[in-house]
Amino acid sequence: MAEPAWRVGCCWRCEGDSLPVIWIGDVANPDFGHAPFYACAPCMDRLEALLRAHFGVPSPLH
Ligand SMILES: [Zn+2]
Repeated sequence: MAEPAWRVGCCWRCEGDSLPVIWIGDVANPDFGHAPFYACAPCMDRLEALLRAHFGVPSPLH
């Protein structure tokens, strides 16, 4: 597996521009098909929290 590649671009979650973003998967749209979905580090943290909730994994204590 290749390391995840960070690039500078627009975060598709918070819409911040010129941020280091990482590809987190494809978005499917019935009209346009699939598009790459990029997210910045703070959004990745939030998405990880949502993933933990989705899979029932306890969050680390802060
Ligand atoms: Zn973001």
